Amino acid sequence: MSETTRGLGKDLCARVHAVTGAECYLPDTHYPRPHQSLAGDSWHDGLCTRCAGSGLYADALCPACNGTAFEPLTLPETYQPG
Ligand SMILES: [Zn+2]
Ligand SMILES: [Zn+2]
Repeated sequence: MSETTRGLGKDLCARVHAVTGAECYLPDTHYPRPHQSLAGDSWHDGLCTRCAGSGLYADALCPACNGTAFEPLTLPETYQPG
């Protein structure tokens, strides 16, 4: 039994994009690099300002983050990671 098979034993970020539903496959140590999905999409997000991270707004699924508690951030095109 190898604990390195398929990355078992490592924590993945697994953050889900609030709009596209894409799941980040990077290790949870990728910060401050953007989240990235297997499809090649990358994005930044932050604690949802609508529901303050509860995922609920007015007793319903928060429309800003779709219940993920994190909303995508739009960064200036001039933004340079790192
Ligand atoms: Zn991530
Ligand atoms: Zn929200």
